[in-house]
Amino acid sequence: MKKQIGFGSLCVHGPEEQRHTRPHQLPIYATSSFCFDSIEQGMEVFLGNQPGHIYSRFGNPTVDAAAGQVARLESHGAGFEASGLLTSSGMAAISTLLMGLLQPGDAILTQGNLYGGTTALFREILQPLDIRFQATGLGRLDQVETCLKKNPGIRLLFFETPANPTLDCFDMAALAELAHKYNCIVVADNTFATPYLQQPLRFGVDFVIHSTTKYLNGHGNSTAGAIIGRDEGQMQEAVLPRLKLLGTNCNPWDAWLLYNGLKTLEVRMERHCRNARQLAQWLHRHPDVEKVNYPGLESHPGHEVAKKQMRDFGGMLSFELKGGLEAGKRFMNRLQLATLTPTLGDVDTLALHPASMSHISVPREVRLQYGITDGLVRISTGIENIEDIIADVEGAMGG
Ligand SMILES: *Cc1c(COP(=O)(O)O)cnc(C)c1O
Repeated sequence: MKKQIGFGSLCVHGPEEQRHTRPHQLPIYATSSFCFDSIEQGMEVFLGNQPGHIYSRFGNPTVDAAAGQVARLESHGAGFEASGLLTSSGMAAISTLLMGLLQPGDAILTQGNLYGGTTALFREILQPLDIRFQATGLGRLDQVETCLKKNPGIRLLFFETPANPTLDCFDMAALAELAHKYNCIVVADNTFATPYLQQPLRFGVDFVIHSTTKYLNGHGNSTAGAIIGRDEGQMQEAVLPRLKLLGTNCNPWDAWLLYNGLKTLEVRMERHCRNARQLAQWLHRHPDVEKVNYPGLESHPGHEVAKKQMRDFGGMLSFELKGGLEAGKRFMNRLQLATLTPTLGDVDTLALHPASMSHISVPREVRLQYGITDGLVRISTGIENIEDIIADVEGAMGG
């Protein structure tokens, strides 16, 4: 090159990164691609003989750091190393994983009260591709076994525990063992619990997916998802190629926000759990409350299973107001500290009235089947001071 380059060329070619000391915090690698020093190095990296990033859709240092951290948390103390990939959302994690694992003609066995988006994905995207699904009560192992016996097309068991919005809990170890007997792959959506409360891979589950948008990020400022597998080979051969071709990768900015959020996961979860338990006990004694759904209460049908497989009972709860639809709406409008929003797992307390919000277009008979009654309110208990949370809920109750 000539000694003196033109002004326009200088504008484009700034100096290279001057890095003599390591950054204390993870940098955001805002780059779509990575460069090679020589064609020989490029060939080796493309062939996979030498480690190296190529293109951010395939992998990026910021994204990989966050993915690796979620994988480490999901396999902490398990005696094996899990492998992780980050996706653009929780839905992207589910669709990418299932498209990597299933073929036309295969079927999925699952529960009726899945996250709404997941059921819609099964029905509207996978079913037309001839990947069918069947829902059954996962609390009844005999029913699960009957389904597996009757339908040999079932190749995958997909579940959530605790499940929205009544916090039903299912025995992960028993389900994984039964499914494996029928050569099924087992996938758990661990969004509600997080690896702080339960690690499905330790109970025999093959893959865990997350909407990291919720508790793992924890601050409501990043949309992303994660796929965690116990088998590195399967992740590399079945999942990563799908992620690359579907383009469901996470971007460095959202990954970076997730990475920062993860640092406080344990302290946040401890506080979420403590606050939720106290709020559940307070609601349980309140005369306007028909029923409280919280696995930490002995009256909850999932209490024993939750005690067996969870470290604590989580930050999510729901309760039924005696006054039905009107009482539910009035309660929501009177809340001052808590925010009306459909998400969950943020540091602030969030409230949802499914009958008039997330499930407004679901026929009443259908939602009643899953315990979504007219007066049901779901609370994602935040990490504020519990006195303020209870005062807010108390102020919103009553005629
Ligand atoms: C939010 C959520 C999802 C979907 O995640 P997105 O990040 O919104 O795509 C999946 N499963 C559960 C249990 C969720 O709460």
